[in-house]
Amino acid sequence: ETLTAVSPEACFDYALRLFQARLRETGVEVVRRWPEQAVWVRADLVRLEQVLVNLIGNALQAMTGTAAPRLELAIDTQGEQVVMSVADSGPGIPVEHLGQIFEPFFTTKPTGKGLGLGLSISSRIIDDLGGSLTAANCPEGGARFTIRLPRHATPP
Ligand code: ADP
Ligand code: MG
Repeated sequence: ETLTAVSPEACFDYALRLFQARLRETGVEVVRRWPEQAVWVRADLVRLEQVLVNLIGNALQAMTGTAAPRLELAIDTQGEQVVMSVADSGPGIPVEHLGQIFEPFFTTKPTGKGLGLGLSISSRIIDDLGGSLTAANCPEGGARFTIRLPRHATPP
């Protein structure tokens, strides 16, 4: 395995860089909540970045055409786990879909807009890293995806 200490902040930054132009064009406010003390996860940088790209891409699609779009990215620790979350100010996930969105090929997007594979692949990647990926709606509206991964004690 190629698991090493990976910085969640660096991972978010890599993913955000891909969306830089689109974020600027669409005026999405990006809020970062990072811990005061840097943390590391035991992961694979490329795979974790892929998951974040999927989650941020979904968030931006969900907020298309909404007023005051806001993307909140957070990193926290909970005991021996690092919790990374991606929350948006879009319409949220209909409760009847919450049990299906991680299934392969489940999509509510028009043909050509989504294959419905992003979340199933992302969840599989995070499982393989010994973590979990979950979805919920935020009380204030919008969807929140939460990644939990084992904490890596020391930096590389
Ligand atoms: P795709 O993006 O190709 O549709 P995904 O697996 O990434 O496939 O997502 C599956 C479905 O989950 C989406 O079609 C959408 O219905 C729902 N979904 C994912 N992210 C969000 C989000 N941020 N807000 C609302 N619904 C979402
Ligand atoms: Mg997707």
